[in-house]
Amino acid sequence: MAAIKVSKLPVDPGPAAWNSLLPPAEPARPLSGDVTADWLVIGAGFAGLAAARRLSQLCPTDRVVVLEARRVAEGPAGRNSGFMIDLPHDLSSADYGGALEADKSLTADNRHAIRFATQMATDFGLGPDVFCQSGKVNAAATDKGDRHNRDHAVHLSAMGEDHTWLDRTDMCALTGTDYYCSGLYTAGTAMIQPAAFVRGVARGLASNRVQIFENSPVTALNRTGNWTATTPGGSVIAPKVILAVNGHLNSFGYLKNRLMHVFTYASMTRPLTAQESASLGGQAVWGLTPADPMGTTVRRVQAPGGDRIIVRNRFTFDPTLEVSDRRIARVARDHDRAFRARFPMLPEVRMHYRWGGRLCLSRNNVSVVRVLDDGLYVACCQNGLGTARGTLSGILAAELATGTRSERLDRALAAPDPIRLPPDVLAKPAANAFLRWQEHKAGAEL
Ligand SMILES: Cc1cc2nc3c(=O)[nH]c(=O)nc-3n(C[C@H](O)[C@H](O)[C@H](O)COP(=O)(O)OP(=O)(O)OC[C@H]3O[C@@H](n4cnc5c(N)ncnc54)[C@H](O)[C@@H]3O)c2cc1C
Repeated sequence: MAAIKVSKLPVDPGPAAWNSLLPPAEPARPLSGDVTADWLVIGAGFAGLAAARRLSQLCPTDRVVVLEARRVAEGPAGRNSGFMIDLPHDLSSADYGGALEADKSLTADNRHAIRFATQMATDFGLGPDVFCQSGKVNAAATDKGDRHNRDHAVHLSAMGEDHTWLDRTDMCALTGTDYYCSGLYTAGTAMIQPAAFVRGVARGLASNRVQIFENSPVTALNRTGNWTATTPGGSVIAPKVILAVNGHLNSFGYLKNRLMHVFTYASMTRPLTAQESASLGGQAVWGLTPADPMGTTVRRVQAPGGDRIIVRNRFTFDPTLEVSDRRIARVARDHDRAFRARFPMLPEVRMHYRWGGRLCLSRNNVSVVRVLDDGLYVACCQNGLGTARGTLSGILAAELATGTRSERLDRALAAPDPIRLPPDVLAKPAANAFLRWQEHKAGAEL
């Protein structure tokens, strides 16, 4: 018999901007009363939705229920920058790269996830404005960033990966700004409108017999034979459960002191006027990751309602899984500074939305796909790259739970657990001072 009392529910700081750009969703349907199911998935982010999709493929006649604490797309899955990256992108390394063979297998795994997401986009009628494998550019603004890019290019060549070098003129033609001295284009990243993507997938799943209950936080999970998940409005009884709550795995009592809870932040401009778009120049749609992992991610999109620019930067360590509005206001200064430095030709453009969101990292950069207990499986810890890694871990958790073995699953099961955090990492001020120092060293890449 297992009895889990959930210690904390998700709180998402600031608006989910990408979701706000979309037409309002249908009213939420929280769980009401008691239902039984063959499968329960907890969490409707990338991992939970991929798990539900894979279950519906593997067990087409089974009843799959998903419980989500918030509205779909209001959590981290709907508030990220939308880079579904195929290549190694270890946020904790100096230049994203790692050991050659490990990086090749990671890339193959990410591509498996991207193919799965591509198929969902096709099956559920999501257009290129929602999901488009257009690639991305790793952009350098400094000599150091340029060296990172050159090292990265050598690493990619050793992996047998195609890439295109962009010089300052190419970067200016792409982005309209002369801020960047070089860029490394790779074609395999899918660029998504994250909120439209997860809402579209949830809608598609619902038409495939998967029931998704929003605003239905699981507050307790007990096993007496079957599992019973309790929510404020009712409960779900199921023999098998997949936990897809990323860092909130700690709130269910698992992997204490092994997961690092980090927030990152973004701001999105108001729509540019036609005149501002013209004075910026460059191409209408592009996405840049920073050559230094601590730097600023920038996207230009033609979102509903117009031409907008989104910047993302800063990482803060917040083991309580929550941040204050004051933090968003402080980080806003870094966003505005990054925006002004890159786009001096847009002096009047102000930010329309500012927000933050949770990441869950492990010190050894591993995700967790495991059996936790009889009939209880996990797909968590996406190391800040959950659009691809979350999708992969959701697929693999569903395969594990249904006894569908593969080399890919065996590799995931053979991965070590997240290593225990030393006391100095757990100490919030020390960890934040370290992050601040790394950001300072990133210089103009930030
Ligand atoms: C500003 C920002 C930019 C980012 N940019 C990128 C990017 O460009 N590319 C990339 O790959 N990643 C990016 N990320 C990270 C990415 O969003 C996450 O890694 C990803 O969302 C993790 O997916 P997940 O499904 O594992 O978890 P989540 O998306 O966090 O989903 C877990 C869900 O579980 C729900 N939940 C938690 N507890 C309960 C409970 N008790 N009951 C029911 N439901 C519960 C939550 O509400 C949540 O919706 C970014 C994140 C942020 C904040």
